Amino acid sequence: AKALGRNKCCFHTKELNRAFKKNLAIEQALRKALEQEEFVLHYQPQYGAGNKQLVGAEALIRWQPRVGPLVSPADFIPLAEETGLIVPIGEWVLRTACSQAADWLQRGLPPFRISVNVSPRQLDESDYAENVLAILGETGLPPQYLMLEITEGVAIREEKETLAKLLPLKQQGVQFAIDDFGTGYSSLSYLMGVQADALKIAQMFINYVPGCPGQAAIVKAIVAMAGSLKLTVIAEGVETEEQFEFLRSQGCHWIQGYYFMKPVTAMEFERLHPISDRE
Ligand code: C2E
Ligand code: CA
Ligand code: CA
Repeated sequence: AKALGRNKCCFHTKELNRAFKKNLAIEQALRKALEQEEFVLHYQPQYGAGNKQLVGAEALIRWQPRVGPLVSPADFIPLAEETGLIVPIGEWVLRTACSQAADWLQRGLPPFRISVNVSPRQLDESDYAENVLAILGETGLPPQYLMLEITEGVAIREEKETLAKLLPLKQQGVQFAIDDFGTGYSSLSYLMGVQADALKIAQMFINYVPGCPGQAAIVKAIVAMAGSLKLTVIAEGVETEEQFEFLRSQGCHWIQGYYFMKPVTAMEFERLHPISDRE
């Protein structure tokens, strides 16, 4: 029995060791990916629910290794967050998205807001706001064209501190959206404190509508509440005509999802939203 116990213990250590080595390998690969510019951004458009005009686009990161298929953010963002690599990766995302949006604006694409996802870990950096403002200056993107998406989870941790840190950005006109609204714990108090500009209804709620009356009532209530708080209500993950019609009829402002378009490369995005000849 003793021998077995020792074996078990030994086995356990080996497993841990293997998991550790695997994570270390991915961490090194991520570091290299950043240096060798293997990350790319795809852009998913957002349209006005009423007139179907382009109003915004969300920048979503992908990893294209030299060899092998595109890696989805779900497969590397968590590890990037754990290791802290999300800080330089997030900075790359912000710089790339802002410079792309500034370029589109300059070249006469219809003006729209670019949304960038922010990890809680990035907000821990003491110079976060300073960095964002520096990147806006560098790229020439007017602050009101940038929307930062923050998940509710941030609220659970030092709420006041985080909010104070973001104030300089708000004062410059940077917009804030609460991502995945309805999946966290402190949704309502967060709304009061953060003075967000927009709220993105979590995809899980969209999946239910308009089929189930109970779930549809929840979406109705979220849209009504956000509307009366003067927040822009964004529905993401909208895939069907029925979902679109339901959300539009409830007063949802912006729609994002496969119903319109999947996230696409910058080149494809330009092809699908041609530059208007105004000059
Ligand atoms: P998210 O911020 O909630 O982004 C929305 C996700 O839903 C995206 O997945 C998008 O491709 C997908 N989606 C869009 N429309 C539809 C639809 O109609 N149906 C369905 N089923 N899905 C749809 P993606 O690109 O794989 O990103 C996954 C998550 O990875 C994001 O969720 C976000 O949390 C994270 N992420 C992506 N890019 C970044 C980034 O630059 N920084 C950080 N920190 N996180 C990122
Ligand atoms: Ca998002
Ligand atoms: Ca989301």
